[in-house]
This record gives sequence, structure tokens and C-alpha cells, in this order.
Amino acid sequence: MVQSQAAVHFGEGTKLQIEVVEVADPGRGNVLVRMGASGVCGSDRHVLDGDWEMPSPTVLGHEGAGTVEAVGDGVTDVEPGDHVILSWFYPCRRCTACLSGKAYVCTGSRSEECVLPDGTTPLTLDGKPAFAYLAVGTMSEYTVVPESAAIRIPKEVPFDVASLIGCSIATGVGTVVNDAAVEPGTSAVVVGAGGVGLSIIMGLKLVGANPIIAVDLNEEKLAFARELGATHTIVPDDDLAAQVAAITEGGAAYAFEAIGRVETIESLPGLLAPGGSAVVVGLPPVDAPVSFDALELAESGKKIIGSNYGSTVPGRDFPKLASLYLAGALPVDKLISHRISLPEVNEAFDAMRRGERARSVIVF
Ligand code: NAD
Ligand code: ZN
Repeated sequence: MVQSQAAVHFGEGTKLQIEVVEVADPGRGNVLVRMGASGVCGSDRHVLDGDWEMPSPTVLGHEGAGTVEAVGDGVTDVEPGDHVILSWFYPCRRCTACLSGKAYVCTGSRSEECVLPDGTTPLTLDGKPAFAYLAVGTMSEYTVVPESAAIRIPKEVPFDVASLIGCSIATGVGTVVNDAAVEPGTSAVVVGAGGVGLSIIMGLKLVGANPIIAVDLNEEKLAFARELGATHTIVPDDDLAAQVAAITEGGAAYAFEAIGRVETIESLPGLLAPGGSAVVVGLPPVDAPVSFDALELAESGKKIIGSNYGSTVPGRDFPKLASLYLAGALPVDKLISHRISLPEVNEAFDAMRRGERARSVIVF
């Protein structure tokens, strides 16, 4: 058992408390990780703001990387000393989806219950069970995760960079490459240029999309977008569709939403040329359905694609993304606008709610 400083959400209010939790030794099939860095993602903000149901108390954070400290019986994928990126959707490796190579739609994972495969949690706080968000809980000095959630990467990748590969980069680049399969020279618009939207822009640049249009209310974000590959940037007015049509000769081939707002998700089909694809990456609050003009959608042959984790297969994709960073093809470090300590996490969420900061990363 180790003691660990962690950022804990008690289910009410929008502030995290810094507490000392107890982290159990890794049981069979699990891995104890000493965290190196954890990103601060919009999905953590949804939990804090009560947008989704979560068990409580919960150690927040799901975008992290660190060093394997100890392994439980039967673990063969990693050993102490390995550097790993954590996956916030651990695959069960047994269900039909996993056996078909589609870990991102695994039906056996208990990540969303915030428990290990056997239904237990390795954390306690004041002698009572505590949960790890998405079974990783990366905003903690130590965490215990299933073996399938700890993916070894080269030690040359710094932890701050590696942490972002664990969510925003995997999701953003993955949705371009895996979900949309964007072809070189095709047009794309990204609505929302936070950590995930900027990662989508990096993915679009990687595959040679053109033009790449970034949309955000915040000019600072649009400056990041230009640095990371956007060819055009827009602060939206009442007619975003006309603004996009003027750049793309009538509409984009791909439109991504990376905010999680009903209205902006509903705006996606209107940004597309006939035959285009809308990709929903941003996650709205629970029970917030969106609507589309189905007649227009069908008559113009448009598609709507939902993206979970950018259809990432962690064991396949994390090392690939890490090597793209090391090769200079994916400048993940440029996404990090703020390096912070754990107690500064609430300020990072306040800034995020104001639309500020590309990505804050907690460095342990
Ligand atoms: P973020 O807060 O960093 O980014 C959101 C951006 O949207 C900000 O730059 C903000 O200025 C901008 N914005 C807000 N309202 C806007 C508007 N009306 N028009 C234009 N821009 C607007 O958050 P993030 O970490 O980038 O996450 C974005 C979303 O992606 C969240 O909903 C998150 O839960 C979701 N997400 C989904 C997956 C997935 O697997 N599908 C994975 C990670 C995150
Ligand atoms: Zn995330």
C-alpha cells in the first residue's frame, strides 16, 4: 500500500480537494504506476460540472503517463521501470469487439464504472472506498490500473507529452485517421480549438488535409490553431456555414465538433458540402439529444460519425503516436500551454471554463 496525494471530486461542487488517498498493492493482472504527468481534459470538466453521473468520491484525471512501480501476479506486458501511457478505456481483450480489433467499443470493459475488471477499486480515503475516474484516476501521485490500460512507450518521450497522447492526441489524431479517414487535399473544419480540437488540427496537418479551418470564440486558441496547422481561422458569427462555404467553395468535406455543445453539434451538417462527413467528438451532457434535418442529410448524402477515443486501439496507437512525436511529425509539446502542480488544478479548470489555455498539464 502507498499513500498518494490526489485531486478528489466529492460529487458536489465544482472544486477538487487535494487529499491523501491510500493505493493498494497491485492485485493479479494489475499494475501500480507512479504518475509523471496528467493532462486536464474537457471530460474531467464535465464530471466536475455535474454533466455526467459518476461514483463518488472520485480521483479525477484520465490523460496520464508514468512509470511502472510494481506489477501484480500474471502481468507480462510491462515490468517495473517501464514508462507507460494510460488508456482511459481499458479493453477486456475477450469480447467480440476486442477480438475484432475494435478495443474502442469493447463491451467487457468496466472503465466507465471506474472499477478494475473484478469490480473492485484499489483506492481508499479515510478507510472508505474511493474511485479512480475511468479506472485510471491520473490526478494522483500513484494509481493502480489493469495491465491492458498500461501501454509501454520509449523512455525518450517526456511524460508531459506522453500524458496528452493518452487522451487528446489519441482522440484527435485518431478521429482524423481512423473515424473519418481524411484524404490528402480534402477540406476540413474543426469547431472548438481546445486540447482535443487542436489535436484534430494536428491530425489533419499530418494527413495533408487542405484547407484546415479552425473555429473558436477565443483568439488565443486560434493562434495555437494556426501554429499547429490551421490554414484559416474563424471567430464564428451568426452564419458560420456561410463563413466556411466562402473558404471551401460551398462546404467542407469533413466537419468535426470538439466542444460538446448541442448547438454546435447540430451546426455540423450545414458546414458540409454534399457527400461530406460530420464527426461528433465533443461530448454533451447526459440527456441532451441533438436533431438534424434528416431530409437534407439524406438528399445530400451526408454522414454523421460518432467517435469514441478516436477509435484508438491503445496498444497499437500509443506507440505509433509516440514515435511520430519523436520523429518530429507530431509536435505534441506545442499543445502544452501550462505546466502546473497538482494543487493548481482548480485554476486550470476555471481557465478552461473561460475558454482559455490550450492544455494544462499537471507535472508530478
Ligand atoms: P476544452 O475546454 O479545452 O476546449 C473547448 C473549446 O471550445 C475551447 O477552446 C472553447 O473556447 C471552445 N468553444 C466553446 N464554446 C464555443 C462555441 N460556441 N463556438 C466555438 N468554440 C467554442 O475541452 P477539450 O479538452 O478540448 O474537450 C472538448 C470536448 O471533447 C469535451 O466535450 C470532451 O468531453 C470531449 N472529448 C471527447 C472524447 C471522445 O472520445 N469522443 C475524448 C476526449 C474529450
Ligand atoms: Zn480526455
